[in-house]
Amino acid sequence: RQTAPRPGKTRVMTVSNQKGGVGKTTTTVNMAAALATFGLRVLVIDNDPQGNASTALNIEHRGDTPGTYEVLIDGTPLREVVQPSPDIKGLYCCPATLDLAGAEIELVPMVSRETRLRNAIHRYLAETEAAGERFDYVFIDCPPSLGLLTINAFAAADEVLIPIQSEYYALEGLGQLLNSIDQLRGYLNPNLEVSTILMTMFDKRTNLSKDVQDEVRQHFPDQLLSTVIPRSVRISEAPSFNKTVLSYDPEGVGAVAYKEAALEMAKQGASTNGN
Ligand code: ADP
Ligand code: MG
Repeated sequence: RQTAPRPGKTRVMTVSNQKGGVGKTTTTVNMAAALATFGLRVLVIDNDPQGNASTALNIEHRGDTPGTYEVLIDGTPLREVVQPSPDIKGLYCCPATLDLAGAEIELVPMVSRETRLRNAIHRYLAETEAAGERFDYVFIDCPPSLGLLTINAFAAADEVLIPIQSEYYALEGLGQLLNSIDQLRGYLNPNLEVSTILMTMFDKRTNLSKDVQDEVRQHFPDQLLSTVIPRSVRISEAPSFNKTVLSYDPEGVGAVAYKEAALEMAKQGASTNGN
């Protein structure tokens, strides 16, 4: 069985892009699943009211299921809401329900409204580490906006993973995301860095995909993974079976690409934190 290096400390990564439909959720669940199948302990926090990550990971998230909303608004400990994946050992998920849409507004008047997720994650990571069950990776799947949910994710994370769709206008709005990250760094999280960029829905047959990739590489030579995720119908079908593409089509190009990307990211992380 293939393995991946464990990071020196838990890597908390927010998967962000202010555009919708670029592959944030797909990247979150498949990178997480890949790392778990490589033997690592991985937590996915579904921070999008759509709950698409919960769906793809086959995690219960009916209206009354406690999840990210309760963590942010009621201060419920993650320990009480995190569920193990029924399919993949080592993979865990804090689910999201539609309630979470309300959190965007309900957070506004709250004390430490920007750092509630960070506090919850730090507490949970300390508890699990003390119990000898240290997480290697935490992925936070964000909605396509720069509201308080996303800000909570930026405040909680060490790293930003940006999926970029290989199409025209892919970089449009990216400047805004980078500006927000810069601002966040100043007042909430000085350590936050854009560590990883992944090209998704890549089409080898078109010059367009290559052109976008070249442009991204000019801006982010160190962050851009050399592995790209191809456009694949299997990848898009998997969630409707409550599966990641790794279980839905294990030998297919999508599963292979996500495993390769996850391994590349794990190696990069292992070398940058002196492991
Ligand atoms: P986001 O979370 O950024 O809104 P999603 O991950 O939900 O984006 O992806 C948007 C849509 O594109 C979904 O229907 C998803 O299944 C599909 N999709 C994502 N990645 C791929 C891919 N590599 N090939 C084909 N379809 C994809
Ligand atoms: Mg999504």
